[in-house]
Amino acid sequence: MRATEFLPDVQRVLEERGEPAYRLKQIYFALTNSLVRDWDEATSLPKNLRAALSEQIPAASLGLETISRATDGTRKYLFRTHDGHAIETVMIPEKGRRTVCISTQVGCPMACKFCATGLLGIKRNLKAREIAEQVFVAARDIAPDGDHVTNVVVMGMGEPMLNYKDTLLALKVLNDPDGFGLAARHIAVSTSGLIDKIRRFADEPEQFHLAISLHTPFGDEREEIMPVASRSSIPELMDAARYYVKTTRRKLFFEYTLLAGVNDQPRHVEGLAELLDDPLYHLNLLRFNWTDTGFSATSKRRAREFLNEARDLGLSATLRPSRGQDIDAACGQLAAKDLRGRPAIPMIGA
Ligand code: SAH
Ligand code: SF4
Repeated sequence: MRATEFLPDVQRVLEERGEPAYRLKQIYFALTNSLVRDWDEATSLPKNLRAALSEQIPAASLGLETISRATDGTRKYLFRTHDGHAIETVMIPEKGRRTVCISTQVGCPMACKFCATGLLGIKRNLKAREIAEQVFVAARDIAPDGDHVTNVVVMGMGEPMLNYKDTLLALKVLNDPDGFGLAARHIAVSTSGLIDKIRRFADEPEQFHLAISLHTPFGDEREEIMPVASRSSIPELMDAARYYVKTTRRKLFFEYTLLAGVNDQPRHVEGLAELLDDPLYHLNLLRFNWTDTGFSATSKRRAREFLNEARDLGLSATLRPSRGQDIDAACGQLAAKDLRGRPAIPMIGA
């Protein structure tokens, strides 16, 4: 049962106390649907059970330290894990949408050259509850304005496919009609391109969306900016992509961060047009968000040209506006500042 997997420590306490089985369901609902962060808020539970839980397990597995607000309405949440790590989550308001961008690891071992999270190295994987709770907190935060979370993107800190089990469990809870209740099609995962995991993800029954961070159509250039590219060639990556669209019949998104002078020339557009040869493939262009990594952003003018050139060559493509930059809350900028400067542990095996 999903609640047992999601809340193993709660289950243990209930068993020790000899509580009836339906209590776990009530607690699962209180955490994932009523979004309680203190057992005293779980009024469906008897007082003595609330007291016992309060003594043994915090209702909130993440401490919320600060909320930063950007001029464009984007909000960034800084969380502290029980073992002292900092992680970040972002809420992006757009016309009619409230998208929450969540983290799956403390840092990231993939070491992409342009990404602030990649500079950190990896500290540990987040547990399913820590992953889902980021959404619960954002949902609670925007509720007083009459807003609710409409979309979740797994594009914060970390490589979700390296924390597959817990990420998937968190997404299933977010999707669960008896839990948070967000439609699977409103949930998207982004990966730097671990091919065995792309195939596994394609075989999942839920209709979650997938994005692959491509960033250049050329293997040698990809290796220079994304060390993960040395594990599998572009043809191998595209085989996995093909498997995904054939199996799911869903759109597959390719993330492409435009880096000035690195991957924004006409030959890149031509390479993309050759590579992205399935009508279900969609190219998501994004301008580089500043990080102290030596890269710089393609100009707005060139980014629009790149988009038009891609469309002229028949690609389905969009240029995503960057949000929350003034609070370092945009894609690739999440690096929970107090983590910076600590020694990084580079690349580990998948
Ligand atoms: N690890 C996953 C998901 C998190 S990163 C992945 O790499 O796909 C989310 C997206 O932001 C990825 O496409 C990533 O390449 C991109 N990104 C990283 N740093 C960036 C930056 N500084 N500016 C713009 N996009 C960036
Ligand atoms: Fe990790 Fe994604 Fe950043 Fe690469 S871009 S270092 S995979 S978080």
